[in-house]
Amino acid sequence: SVPLSYFSGIGAASKQGVLVKGSNYLDVLNQVKIMVFDKTGTLTVGHFTVSQLHPVGISSAELLKLAAVAERKSPHPIAKALVQASNTREEAKKITEVVGQGVKAQYQGKVLLVGNAKLMHSQAVKAFVPLTGVTGTVVYVAWDGQFKGAILVADTVKSSAKEALGGLKQSGITQTIMLTGDNEATAKAVATELGVDQVYANLLPEDKLKLVRRFQKTNQGKVAFVGDGLNDTPVLAGSDLGIAMGALGSDAAIEAADIVLMNDEPSSILVVRKLAQKTRQIAQ
Ligand code: ADP
Ligand code: MG
Repeated sequence: SVPLSYFSGIGAASKQGVLVKGSNYLDVLNQVKIMVFDKTGTLTVGHFTVSQLHPVGISSAELLKLAAVAERKSPHPIAKALVQASNTREEAKKITEVVGQGVKAQYQGKVLLVGNAKLMHSQAVKAFVPLTGVTGTVVYVAWDGQFKGAILVADTVKSSAKEALGGLKQSGITQTIMLTGDNEATAKAVATELGVDQVYANLLPEDKLKLVRRFQKTNQGKVAFVGDGLNDTPVLAGSDLGIAMGALGSDAAIEAADIVLMNDEPSSILVVRKLAQKTRQIAQ
């Protein structure tokens, strides 16, 4: 049976803006040793701005327009930045989201692709040249099978993230790990800035779940996954403890999670972890 004081723990957590969906989850949080984080929207703010345009055979404005017409409907934070940066109101047809890669659409009767290098490779785009030597997320555009250029978008880390990660280590978390679909250079830069122990880049959502399962198999303690979860619903549900961002997070992520941070701040995890530890002392 669950000790009564865990119930009062839920109340105390809710006063800190953290929704704990059952008293057992405070007990699980106490046992977490490996804490796995998504990058975009979880450790970073998730508000991108366009910082560089590298068109190929077209103008910068045309490059941005191609990106915007394809991204108009996408809920992805990168899409929002591209739509905002362009002044077009046009929208491509037959827009489909390629999960963890970008979008595919029809524009003026030709296939339009907007996304990462993985998307360019998988769709056999001609004369594709990756943008190197930059830090940030790179969005590539291809139209009618031809490479049209690269757009660099930048995001910033959350102000409370570094301190929160340090505090979590002090509270007994043995490893902090970041998983991301973004490129390696950006992933490493963020991981170094925040002091994350391990980082895995270029992942698809299913790769994130596979990795969490692998961490669970090491039997080094419970594994929590923290995400904003546009595509992270499976891994939130598959980890021992799913923690979702409540404000920026998708409805599906909030539904799949065991704990929801209403203010999206990683520091709230530390607040609840300490609360859970205190609650346990009282319960014993
Ligand atoms: P993360 O793992 O950092 O949360 P996502 O899984 O949402 O990132 O996306 C992984 C990568 O796929 C992004 O870094 C980006 O390169 C690309 N991507 C996904 N959706 C889009 C989109 N709508 N437009 C452009 N690129 C996208
Ligand atoms: Mg994400």
